Amino acid sequence: MFATYDDQNIFARILRGEIPNTTVMETDHTLAFRDINPLAPEHVLVIPKGAYISHDDFALNAGEAEIVDFIRVTGRICAELGVQPSTQGAGYRIISNAGTDGVQDVPHYHLHILAGRPLGRMLSAG
Ligand code: 5GP
Repeated sequence: MFATYDDQNIFARILRGEIPNTTVMETDHTLAFRDINPLAPEHVLVIPKGAYISHDDFALNAGEAEIVDFIRVTGRICAELGVQPSTQGAGYRIISNAGTDGVQDVPHYHLHILAGRPLGRMLSAG
């Protein structure tokens, strides 16, 4: 489906500043911004600045500094949203869609952080 990285994908264009975004957090390696079509009261997308297609690509090929930074940003966002279970927050869900079966629309690796309402079971049957 996405054999090579397409540098015209919408998140690549956001990273180049060609398309505006509502930034939640930015570091040297990572950008987090609000989803344009939120599926929950809090819906944040977290993307690496590097050209990775999907979770497996990032996990196998990104440098350690990129991976650590990316994961830390997800934790910092959960803390800023106040949703961590460890502090009596109401919780959240992190999703990463990949490829055809995962129904990935944008071929630049991203995590969805969803929170702010009960999110139901993980998957619907079928
Ligand atoms: P996927 O299906 O690839 O996991 O999710 C892509 C997500 O990107 C969708 O939730 C969609 O609403 C979001 N999205 C698509 N285009 C834009 C955009 O231009 N700006 C922002 N902020 N989000 C976008």
